Amino acid sequence: MDYRKIGKTGLSASVIGLGSEHLDNKPYAVVEETIHAALDQGINIMDLFMPGDEVRQNIGKALGNRRKEMIIQGHIGSVDLSEQYDVSRDLATCQHYFEKLLKNLDTDYIDVGMLFFMDSDEALEQIFANGIVDYALELKRKGIIRAIGTSSHNPVVARKLLETGVVDLMMFSINPAFDMTPAGTDVLSTMEELSEQQYVTIDPVRAELYKYCEQQEIAITVMKTLGGGRLLSAEHSPFKKAMTVAQCVHYALTRPGVVSTMIGCQSAKQVEEAVGYLHTTEQQRDYMEIIRNYQGEGSGQCVYCNHCQPCPVDIDIAMVNKYLDIALLDTANVPPSIRQHYNALPATGADCIACGSCEDKCPFSVPIIRNMERARDLF
Ligand code: SF4
Ligand code: SF4
Repeated sequence: MDYRKIGKTGLSASVIGLGSEHLDNKPYAVVEETIHAALDQGINIMDLFMPGDEVRQNIGKALGNRRKEMIIQGHIGSVDLSEQYDVSRDLATCQHYFEKLLKNLDTDYIDVGMLFFMDSDEALEQIFANGIVDYALELKRKGIIRAIGTSSHNPVVARKLLETGVVDLMMFSINPAFDMTPAGTDVLSTMEELSEQQYVTIDPVRAELYKYCEQQEIAITVMKTLGGGRLLSAEHSPFKKAMTVAQCVHYALTRPGVVSTMIGCQSAKQVEEAVGYLHTTEQQRDYMEIIRNYQGEGSGQCVYCNHCQPCPVDIDIAMVNKYLDIALLDTANVPPSIRQHYNALPATGADCIACGSCEDKCPFSVPIIRNMERARDLF
């Protein structure tokens, strides 16, 4: 398993995480098999948003004395008052369900307390006005949660919340189809119509959000990595071509700021398949063919696909481009963490011998030699 640092929290997350939604309404044996398989494979982060007592108790029981091995994202505001999954912005209700989460799991802490489903300006206003953010901050002060997170599908609202500075981690819906959907679109309700949309390019608001997260050391965990399974089917994918799990996972993991993709599993076999990504080749992970027709060959924007490899002096071109893009957000204030990451690369822009072989291979006309020079000068 590979692990990535969760921003400034001092925690590290496995790049493959566990989404637990499919464990809802399943017998304990299924929950136990899945959780134990995840732990045994080195998965150390899971999302748990379901509000029901039984699934929470089953997960707590399955974790048992291995509780400390798992980073749990537990949600503040996820309730089941009128529907199976419901949202509350009432402080007392949020407190009640969060306290119940601790009790159900038989634990005295939740690693990341998540401000749930932040998809609208109204929700943003309510969590501040109703004392829910203060509640999360108090939980953090008391050590009941280690970090504050949020979950969102809306890049504009998410960005506003992140700019308040209270959030350490964001769980966000990332896949190539959502990324090419204009920022104002409700990706959940339009999932069925995505095939009708005319994709042009990766939405700049979303691309900017991911760069902002890495710049600010806010970790991203990913949901909807496989687009609810639609991206794996030529019939249902908006790209009219099936992607593989490895391509979807790799796409998510190569966005700036991303530390882990949460893959929904309900058996040991599915956990094994999800972790199988780690054993795939660069060729099997390559998602470029899927987005090539949409991104536009002359865009000049790096999508971090690594299609330009190999480089004769072993520069990880996608990573240099990624750090350059983040640094270019504010050249006067390049974060020390980005400088450190860049300088820790085995080869940097300064090592480029301008052979040009990468530019011949890049489908998006990225001026790679120029970018290597800019990175060398900037860093
Ligand atoms: S031009 Fe530079 S970055 Fe590109 S392959 Fe050659 S040495 Fe590597
Ligand atoms: S420079 Fe081109 S080929 Fe290389 S990672 Fe970026 S988009 Fe992909």
